[in-house]
Amino acid sequence: MTEQPATRAQPMRIAVVGAGPVGLSLALQLRQLGADAELHVFDAQPDGAAALADPRVLALSEGSRQLLHALGAWPREAATAIRRIHVSQCAPGLASLPRVLLRADEAGLPALGYTVRYGELLGALQAAARVAGIDVRYACPVHAQQHAGAARLLGQGGAALEHPDFDLAVLAEGGAFHNQEQRELHHDYAQTALVGEVRCEHPHDGLAVERFTEHGPVALLPRGADYALVWCVPPTQARTMLELDVAAQTRALQELLPAVCGRIRELRLFGSYALGLNARVRTRRGRLVQLGNAAQTLHPVAGQGLNLGLRDSAALARALAGASTRQLDSALLRYDLARIPDRAALLGLTDLLARGFTWRQPGAAALRAGALAMLSGCWPLRRALQQRMVFGWRQ
Ligand SMILES: Cc1cc2nc3c(=O)[nH]c(=O)nc-3n(C[C@H](O)[C@H](O)[C@H](O)COP(=O)(O)OP(=O)(O)OC[C@H]3O[C@@H](n4cnc5c(N)ncnc54)[C@H](O)[C@@H]3O)c2cc1C
Repeated sequence: MTEQPATRAQPMRIAVVGAGPVGLSLALQLRQLGADAELHVFDAQPDGAAALADPRVLALSEGSRQLLHALGAWPREAATAIRRIHVSQCAPGLASLPRVLLRADEAGLPALGYTVRYGELLGALQAAARVAGIDVRYACPVHAQQHAGAARLLGQGGAALEHPDFDLAVLAEGGAFHNQEQRELHHDYAQTALVGEVRCEHPHDGLAVERFTEHGPVALLPRGADYALVWCVPPTQARTMLELDVAAQTRALQELLPAVCGRIRELRLFGSYALGLNARVRTRRGRLVQLGNAAQTLHPVAGQGLNLGLRDSAALARALAGASTRQLDSALLRYDLARIPDRAALLGLTDLLARGFTWRQPGAAALRAGALAMLSGCWPLRRALQQRMVFGWRQ
C-alpha cells in the first residue's frame, strides 16, 4: 500500500488591526519566532509617515529595550538613558520631605530605562517591518467582529473586504473602537497631561524626576541635553496654563519642582493629552484579542502603558508561535492566564499612584511621606519594585 503524503495544515490567517508600536512589534515577533501564520496588518492612518511626528516622549524599560533590540527595532541613536530616578512629593506643610532615589548601578543594570519619542520608535519598527517583509495596508480603517467561531473584518461603514475571514484578529488599534466608559475598569482622573521640553540649570546626567503634587504628578525625563516634561494638571488649569506666557508657566512649574533640578532656564509646552484609566478585565472574546492600549489605557504616572503593551505582544507571540490552527484556542487560553499577574499588578499600582498622591484627607501627605521613607530606607523593597517595573510581574 502506498503511503499518502501527510497533508500540511494551512497557515493560520492572522489580522493585526493597528500598526502602532504594539501591533508592529507583535507582527515582528511572530515572524522572528517562525510562526506558521499568514499576517495581514491594517492601519487607519493615510500612510506610515503620519504618526512619525507624534512628539510624546516615552520612557521605556530596559526589558522593553531588550525586546525591541532583538527585533532590530531599537532606535539606539535617538534614545537617552535613565540612570537614576528621583521620586518625591510636593507637600509644603510637612517638615521632612523624604525622597527615593532609584539607581541603575544599585540594580546591576546599564540603565533603568530609556526615553524615546513615539515617532522615533515607530519609525524604527516600520523600518524593521519592511526588512522582515511585513506589509502594512495603510488608509484602511477596519472593524472586527466574531464570525462562525473565527474573526471577520469589515471596512469603514461596514464595507466587506476582499478576504474578510481570519482565524484570529488582534486588535491593537489603541482603544479607538471602544466607548471608553463602557470598559469594565474606568476612572476619569480629571487630569490632563501637558507635554513639553524643559532646560534646567543643572545638566540631567541621566536623572529622571517624578514629583507628586496635589493636582497630579510632574515628570521630567532626560531627553538629549534637556528634559521632556509630562505635567499633569486638572483640565481647566491645563487650558489656562497653555494660554499663559512662558514666564508665568515657568514660575508655576518651578514652584513644583524639587531643588535637585535647579532653576528652569527654558520651557516649551507643546501639547496635551486627556488622562484616564480604561481597561478590560477580559481582553479576549473568542478569536478577538485586544492588545496594548486597546486592552488598557493607563495614567502615565509610572510610564508603563507601552511597556505593558510590549509584554502583552511578547506573550501572545510566544503562545501563537508554537500552535497550529487546531491548537489555537488552547494557545489563547494559555496567553490569557499568563498575562493576569502582570496586568493586574500594573493596573493596580498605576491607579494607586495616580489617585493616592492626590488624596487631600488629613494625614494623607504624612502617610505618603512614610511610604516614601520606607521605600528609601529598605533596599530589598526598592530592588523588588525596580525589577518589576523593568521586567514586569511574572507568573
Ligand atoms: C502623555 C503620555 C505619556 C506617555 N508616556 C508613556 C511612557 O513614558 N511609557 C510608556 O510605556 N507608555 C507611555 N504612554 C502610553 C503609550 O503612549 C501607549 O501605551 C502606546 O502608544 C500604546 O501603543 P498601541 O500600539 O497599543 O496604540 P497606539 O499607539 O494608539 O497605536 C494604534 C494604531 O492603530 C491605528 N488604528 C486606530 N484605529 C484603527 C482602525 N479602525 N483600523 C486600523 N488601524 C487603526 C492607529 O492609526 C495607530 O497607528 C504615554 C501616553 C501618554 C498619552
